[in-house]
Amino acid sequence: MKITLLTGRTSDIAEALGMEIKIIKSPLAKRLTLRIDDKNHLPVLTIPKYCTSRKAINFVEEHRDWIRNMLARLPTAEKFENGESISIMGEKVIITHHRSQRGIVLKDGFLVVGGEPEFLHRRVSDFLKKLAAKELSKLSIAKAKQLGKTVHHISIKDTKSRWGSCSSKNNINYNWRIILAPKHVIDYLVCHEVSHLLHQDHSTNFWNCVATLCPDYQDGRRWLKIKGKELYRYI
Ligand SMILES: [Zn+2]
Repeated sequence: MKITLLTGRTSDIAEALGMEIKIIKSPLAKRLTLRIDDKNHLPVLTIPKYCTSRKAINFVEEHRDWIRNMLARLPTAEKFENGESISIMGEKVIITHHRSQRGIVLKDGFLVVGGEPEFLHRRVSDFLKKLAAKELSKLSIAKAKQLGKTVHHISIKDTKSRWGSCSSKNNINYNWRIILAPKHVIDYLVCHEVSHLLHQDHSTNFWNCVATLCPDYQDGRRWLKIKGKELYRYI
């Protein structure tokens, strides 16, 4: 039997498969694995050190349907539109365009947006980013106080891969899209990041700290894991 070990040309595998696929050769990998890179809408194949090209190709062939299904389930980029119903901190709000409205107002279940219709998406996302900054700062400061800590700086980012982060200099970053999640999910995320002010890891002590600040944090954590991706559809 002829065994072809993988050489530097992983592109041969992609070519043989006739699909766009990212290939990672890992000396640490124990077996072939496939995952989906949601940000780049690409399947990612990890290949262990001693693996033939044939084996890698067969493995992907066997998972072709799985790849197709997973890619089809990824949310596509979306813009906020007039008449659309969105949820802000768990409250249903209908985006309503009103040319004569000055700026943007959130009132009685409506987000009334003024100006030219082509700027509606931008105005709504700017509004949500500002609101996220205000609400998350307020909540973070209050939760940090419960731990006897202070937050140095809070920023709202447009990250594609994380919901939040906390640096050793006590700076916290949040993804603005979290403002579209239910209130208990926002609470969980804030308690998670604030707990990093005391514990810079995900140890048992860290999770105990999260639980003190937010006893039902598991619900929020689960929601983010399962539904969080849906919020990424907004560009
Ligand atoms: Zn963390």
